[in-house]
This record gives sequence, C-alpha cells and structure tokens, in this order.
Amino acid sequence: MPIPKWKIEGILDDITECGCCGRRGLKRTVAMMPLDADGNEDGTAEDVVYYGTSCAAIALSWTQGKVTDTARAAQAERDQRDNWARQMISIYAPVEFAPVRDKARVYYGRNQHQRDTGVKATEEVAKLLAEARATLADTPPARPARRVSRTSAATS
Ligand SMILES: [Zn+2]
Repeated sequence: MPIPKWKIEGILDDITECGCCGRRGLKRTVAMMPLDADGNEDGTAEDVVYYGTSCAAIALSWTQGKVTDTARAAQAERDQRDNWARQMISIYAPVEFAPVRDKARVYYGRNQHQRDTGVKATEEVAKLLAEARATLADTPPARPARRVSRTSAATS
C-alpha cells in the first residue's frame, strides 16, 4: 500500500470552490492536510487544501463514497474536539487571571475527585486553556482556500 499524500481533516459546506480544479458552487469541499513521504503531516492549518469530493477522490485514489464517509467521520471528531475546546474556554477563561482560590473553586467544582490529590488547579487551568486554544487554532478553515503548487504533485 502506498502511503497516502493527504490526510482528510473534515468536510465543510461553507467552502464551495474546489482548490484543485477551481470549480465553484460545490455543495461541500473536503479539507485535506498534505502528508510527507513518511505519512506525517506536512504543514499547519494554513496548508490545508479544500477539494471537491471528486478531485479529492482522484488525489487519494479512493472512491468518492469512501472520501465522503471518511471526511464525515473526521469532521464529527473535529466538531467534538472543538466543542470541548469552546466549553473549556467558556468555563476557564473567565478565571484565567483570577486569584488562585477562584481558579481552584471553579476547577475542583468540576473535578471533585482531584481535590486533595496534589493536582494544582492553577496549572490544570493553564494547561486546559492552552490545549483548547491550540485545538481551535488548528481548525480549518483558517483562511479562504488557496491554490497550492502541491496540487500537481498530488494528482500526478
Ligand atoms: Zn476540483
């Protein structure tokens, strides 16, 4: 099995132009992260491309059905992570710069089992906020789809 050149990140109906062939007015596009020769992600959210399902299928040598199913599953996972991140931010951002006792009240209020275990609320709150913000920063679309020169490499 050849290593795929792309990892499907999700499927979006608010980007309707294919970043591969430029076709417009699509119902949805598939967000794909380029992979390097070892199959590792080769870029950041800015390098994600948005292809129509037929161009994505060609780029991956998959059927359109497999592309759509995989993209839907990836999107569901991403939505779940994003929801978690937004929830963490809405809970902890208000006490981010609050005194330790306020952080502790909010944190242990939600994580009662960690009270008196040596888990420090201040550190946990900082960690959760950092992780939540990184999760959201990583979420496409980071910006409108753009053409990338990798396109030709992916389809050849
Ligand atoms: Zn296309």
